[in-house]
Amino acid sequence: MERERIDILVAGGGVAGLSAAAGFAAAGFTAVCVDPVPPVTEAEAAGSDLRSTAFLQPSVDFFRRTGLWARLSPFAAELRVMRLADAGGPTGALREIADFEASEIGAESFGYNLPNWLLRREMVAHLAALPVARLLAPARVDRVTPRTAGAIVRLSTGQAFEARLVVAADGRDSFVREAVGIPARRWGYGQKANVFTVTHELPHDGISTEIHRTGGPFTLVPLPDRDGRHHSAVVWMETGPRAMALNAMPEADFEAELNARACGVLGTLRLASPRRLWPIVSQVADRLDGPRTALVAEAAHVVPPIGAQGLNMSLRDIATLIDLCTEERDAGRDIGAPEVLARYHRARHGDILMRVAGIDVLNRAAMAETISLRDLRRTGLRLLHGFGPLRHTAMSLGLGASGAAGR
Ligand SMILES: Cc1cc2nc3c(=O)[nH]c(=O)nc-3n(C[C@H](O)[C@H](O)[C@H](O)COP(=O)(O)OP(=O)(O)OC[C@H]3O[C@@H](n4cnc5c(N)ncnc54)[C@H](O)[C@@H]3O)c2cc1C
Repeated sequence: MERERIDILVAGGGVAGLSAAAGFAAAGFTAVCVDPVPPVTEAEAAGSDLRSTAFLQPSVDFFRRTGLWARLSPFAAELRVMRLADAGGPTGALREIADFEASEIGAESFGYNLPNWLLRREMVAHLAALPVARLLAPARVDRVTPRTAGAIVRLSTGQAFEARLVVAADGRDSFVREAVGIPARRWGYGQKANVFTVTHELPHDGISTEIHRTGGPFTLVPLPDRDGRHHSAVVWMETGPRAMALNAMPEADFEAELNARACGVLGTLRLASPRRLWPIVSQVADRLDGPRTALVAEAAHVVPPIGAQGLNMSLRDIATLIDLCTEERDAGRDIGAPEVLARYHRARHGDILMRVAGIDVLNRAAMAETISLRDLRRTGLRLLHGFGPLRHTAMSLGLGASGAAGR
């Protein structure tokens, strides 16, 4: 069978896979992105993935470099302040509030928030306009056979490619990761998240608010105003049974619970979308490199949605891989050679392990049920906020690479 020769085959056309294809194309590589789910209409998309993604500044820089930002920026809501609050006392009222302001570390904003369905729509349109990249959907990667000079990749459509490098962006249950035999460790917390959007009485003023109480954090992330109303995205984490009960409630009952949980921070909240449940897990792959293969995004790591780290870590994987491959190509070397992929593993795995462990600790603290642990959480927040150098370090770490804050 005829095989088309390409530089990069990206398995998975989620936000990470589409970003990878656009990024490699911008660096001059030929790239094919493959996904079993066809691009959907706007109406379908708006109901399918209600998550939004808060992109921190290094991710915005990546989008600027790849030419994606011009398409995304008109839909982005700026995040100027990260507000952490504790409501773990007996009444459920706010008892500690800490504001982390981007201006304190010399940045105009922490980043921007965008709905996932809109990201996919714009990224698919961007790829369609590029001569060196394309999306094949619906099509699934069915077989990966690494060889000395390239990997042979067969698709469910019968097409075959010979790629110098396969980028696995095919999600937490990655077929490619399994195919090349890289183990991954996954653990749960007995938690789920209800994800939806709301309208609210008061403007959000670019403030993202995370309210901690037993069960997990409740996060309101700004979206742009629409139809003359203020909008925010909500991620509400709870223990599994409680999250499912909330999900099944009639709308009026749910809105009453919602307003109680939000402690009135944006005035009255009204549900503006369906509610979707997401399981909360952590996962990390043992390695990021396999024969002719690099793992990125959820194929490599999954974290609970705290501190907007998930996709931001993924874009750091992708940017690192593109930089390495560009360097190797420009020096006339093979971009899929084992030593190149081992360098990628070394460049990213330590940071990933640190962030997965850090978010695991934060999530366990956020879930704390006993009074002493809840009080400890409150004291921790007070200390973190009250001591300037600690506060600045936390903000820079949250933003990504060291020094990223100033960029
Ligand atoms: C509630 C919630 C809120 C979040 N908020 C944030 C946030 O604010 N900031 C942030 O940075 N992160 C956030 N995240 C994390 C972020 O949403 C995820 O990291 C991201 O969506 C995962 O993207 P992905 O492309 O890696 O995986 P996916 O979106 O799962 O994409 C994988 C793709 O691979 C495809 N696929 C599967 N099998 C194959 C195959 N054999 N061949 C080809 N393709 C295949 C699938 O169809 C799918 O489209 C959040 C997560 C959750 C759950």
